[in-house]
Amino acid sequence: MADLERFSLRIGGTDVDSASGATFESQNPYTQKAWAVLADGTPADVDRAVAAAREAFQGPWAHATGFQRAVLLRKLADLVTSNGDRLARLEVNDSGKLLREMTDQMVGLAAWFHYFAGVADKIEGRQIPTPNPNYLVYTRREAIGVVAAITPWNSPLLLLAWKLAPALAAGCTVVVKPSEHAPASTVAFAQLVDEAGFPPGVVNVVTSSAPEVGAALAAHPGVDKVAFTGSTGTGRHVAVAAAGNLNPVTLELGGKSPQVVFEDADLAAAANGVVSGVFAAAGQTCMAGSRLIVHESVHDELVRLITDRADAIRLGDPTEAAAEMGPIANAPQYEKVLSYLHTAQAEGATIACGGTADDIGGYFVAPTVLTGVNPDSTIVREEVFGPVLSVYSFTDEEQAVRYANDTRFGLAGAVWTKDVHRAHRVAAALRAGTVWINAYRAVSPSVPFGGYGASGIGRESGLDAVDAYTETKAVWVELTGGTRDPFTIG
Ligand code: NAD
Repeated sequence: MADLERFSLRIGGTDVDSASGATFESQNPYTQKAWAVLADGTPADVDRAVAAAREAFQGPWAHATGFQRAVLLRKLADLVTSNGDRLARLEVNDSGKLLREMTDQMVGLAAWFHYFAGVADKIEGRQIPTPNPNYLVYTRREAIGVVAAITPWNSPLLLLAWKLAPALAAGCTVVVKPSEHAPASTVAFAQLVDEAGFPPGVVNVVTSSAPEVGAALAAHPGVDKVAFTGSTGTGRHVAVAAAGNLNPVTLELGGKSPQVVFEDADLAAAANGVVSGVFAAAGQTCMAGSRLIVHESVHDELVRLITDRADAIRLGDPTEAAAEMGPIANAPQYEKVLSYLHTAQAEGATIACGGTADDIGGYFVAPTVLTGVNPDSTIVREEVFGPVLSVYSFTDEEQAVRYANDTRFGLAGAVWTKDVHRAHRVAAALRAGTVWINAYRAVSPSVPFGGYGASGIGRESGLDAVDAYTETKAVWVELTGGTRDPFTIG
């Protein structure tokens, strides 16, 4: 264990051990060896972190103006940029994602903090007219309080930034519980938060190998809001736990997003978009475009273009520039992807390319295209969270939209067509939080992201994201100085 990197909990601006003194190891999915050792937090540590966040919320942070918060957010953005290489490598070690993708993502990460720095000093109330002219009424938008942020193992820092940047802009304090499968970068990031000059306790991190610790945080009575990204099943538990305290939640959950390709589409562009949507990050993204719904007349040609590119994808060491896909991020996820492939074949799907990558070994799964899938089959209904594309065809626009919407999820989707009328018509008809037209997998700090149905509650990013971290207070000012009948209202 001597050569493993060590990470503590981060509570009240300092590194601390778990209350139990226990630690756990994080495994690098490419080398399949432990590379880091982390403090194994407990519910008692959650208590400590929530108390630190409360103290910070009631301390100097409560008096920081939006202008001061903006300055700190900009400093944090700059520190993320100057530490981008280290943060990217920590994420690669934990999740096996491509170094070049994570390096790009760290540039994007800084953009979230810059954007919300720009929002922090513009969180305005309103003056509101009332029927009774004897009142001046205005609203104040006040920080909601202590936020519990629970994050998954894919892109831990980006998905944390989607919560943290608006929460800090609003003046909240935060306790983060990163995934047990990819916790290291969050601890390193929290050190940068303190280095930027945020008061101690504004951001706290409790790492743990135990799901009970996430559950303890979601249900904690000292928390005022819960922001969660993860699977739909866990999201349901989190929503129930938060409801116990009547706390609001933001839930960013799973997806089964459709790529709808019409017969007039630029097929080369569509094939590229489909490959990017489902094979980038080895398909381990919530927005993975895992269902290809293609017009029957171009089905064979499009499948050929996609399988040609998929077969050429270079699997390998995620730190090497030439690699295009790394391994699946952890052993349970690897087993899950394989079991979906078996189920799909048992239910009649044909593997047009890919399948298990036994020749490479480790946790690699080859980019897989399944054709002949039944729209009612398991592989079409459930999120795989791996490099697996299910293809089925339609005959007309009505059927395409019906197939696309025939899912409990509603996170994202794309329409590929050169017909501008149809593009907007279908974009409007799709029940999903994001629709790309002739594109896929683009996100921005300024654009709301979130899901319909089983894909979640609320939106992250964009100007309105700050609303999820503020309470609105209406202030009534009596203007006459007189008294009035105590038994009337208004
Ligand atoms: P997960 O639900 O297993 O875990 C997410 C987090 O919740 C982890 O930190 C985990 O420790 C914690 N947790 C586990 N049990 C808990 C409980 N009972 N109460 C509170 N917290 C608990 O998800 P995962 O496997 O880490 O991530 C993959 C999932 O995340 C996929 O379904 C994916 O689609 C989804 N995701 C969604 C988005 C989005 O923006 N919509 C983005 C990325 C990932």
